[in-house]
Amino acid sequence: MSNKYSVIVLMGIQGSGKGTQGQLLADDFGFTFLEAGGMFRDEVKSGSKLGQQLDEIIHVRGELVPDEITKELISSKIKEIDPNSTVILDGYPRTKKQLHDLDEILNKADRDKIVVVNVKITDKETLERLSKRKICEKCKSVYRDEGQENCSKCNSKLTRRADDTPEKIKTRLAWSHKETDPVIEEYRERGILVEVNGSPSIKEVYQEVKKKLDLQVT
Ligand code: AMP
Repeated sequence: MSNKYSVIVLMGIQGSGKGTQGQLLADDFGFTFLEAGGMFRDEVKSGSKLGQQLDEIIHVRGELVPDEITKELISSKIKEIDPNSTVILDGYPRTKKQLHDLDEILNKADRDKIVVVNVKITDKETLERLSKRKICEKCKSVYRDEGQENCSKCNSKLTRRADDTPEKIKTRLAWSHKETDPVIEEYRERGILVEVNGSPSIKEVYQEVKKKLDLQVT
C-alpha cells in the first residue's frame, strides 16, 4: 500500500493497550514498530555500560530516562529504518521537550506525514490492567490474563515486569498527567490527533483505530 503516513505516534497512559494496537498495525500493514520502553529494556539486557545506567533509572528509581539519551537512541533507530516504511512510535514523546526533539528528528529524516493516535482509558483501568499484566520474555507480547503461563505465539515463559507494582504504576501515572497530557494537547492544536476509546476489547479498539486512520487491509 502507499504510505498514507510516514509516522504514527501512539499516545495513551500505561496499560491503555496502545502497544498491542501498534503491533497489530505493524503486522497487518508492514509498518515498523518502535517502542521506547522495549528499546531501553533491550539495552539493559545487553549488559552494556549504558544498559546498567538505564537499569538503575528504570527499575530502581522508576524514573524516565534523560531526554538526551532517549533522543539519541530514537534518532539512531529511525535512521536505520527504510525511509519508505511507516514508523509506529510507542512511548515517545512523553514530554514537551521530547515533542520538540521528535520534530527535529523527523525533520532531519524527512518524515512529515504524521498522525497521532490517543488511546484513552481511566487511571482506575490502568491500575487494574497493569496489576495483572504479564509479558513474554522472548517476543514481548503482552497478556492481561492472570492464568496464562506461556506465550501463545512463541510458547516462552510469561513474566511480570519489575516496575508493574502499584506504587511504581502510580508514579508513572502522575508523570504522565503532568508531562504527557500537554503533549497530547499540542498535537490536538496542530490538528493531527485522533482519539479512540481504549476500554473495549482489543479487537473492537483495533477496528476503531483502523477506521479513524482510514486504513484497510488489502
Ligand atoms: P514502558 O515500557 O513504556 O512502560 O517504559 C518503561 C520505562 O522506560 C519507563 O518507566 C521509563 O523509565 C523508560 N521510558 C520509556 N519511554 C520513555 C521516554 N519517552 N522517555 C524517557 N524514558 C522512557
